[in-house]
Amino acid sequence: MSWIENRFEEGLIVTSLDFVINWGRKNSIWPMTFGLACCAIEMMAVGASRFDLDRFGAGAFRATPRQADLMIVAGTVNYKMASRVKRLYQQMPDPKYVIAMGACTVGGGPYFKYGYNVVKGVDLIVPVDVYVPGCPPRPEALMEGIMRLQDKIAAQTIGMPKGTRAAAKRKRDKDGAFVLPGGVPA
Ligand code: SF4
Repeated sequence: MSWIENRFEEGLIVTSLDFVINWGRKNSIWPMTFGLACCAIEMMAVGASRFDLDRFGAGAFRATPRQADLMIVAGTVNYKMASRVKRLYQQMPDPKYVIAMGACTVGGGPYFKYGYNVVKGVDLIVPVDVYVPGCPPRPEALMEGIMRLQDKIAAQTIGMPKGTRAAAKRKRDKDGAFVLPGGVPA
């Protein structure tokens, strides 16, 4: 959606567009099929019939990062895997989101003190939107995390804050050429 983001200032039309775009985004989250350790078993349970993640529009696990917009990092991230996790994240199209699932992913978990091979929090590698603590978190906890992510997506805006364009024009008049965020000429 980069062709539309940051092109208009907030207002009635942008607010309505936000609602429609965010409604679509939050109800069609596609997680990546990706698990690192025991927490991934709970993640699989979420996708199965007992918990049925499809109720939240988030049950279509994709087998490639290019078709996914949610990375649920479920399990211990060791240093050997860190570069792979980052590469998978980079291969996902924007907008993309990350849930850190479980104590290991959030901050090293039981390996925090002696796990020389364990990354002490996946947020050292990729930006995390929602943290789900627990060892392992129950499937309900992951669903709660997905609902909190949906709240976060619902609050996103494609617009730029009011006054940004006027401020950019003032700066252009003072300093010469200046472009708005997203490469739009002021
Ligand atoms: S948080 Fe607990 S259950 Fe999850 S990967 Fe770490 S050790 Fe396993």
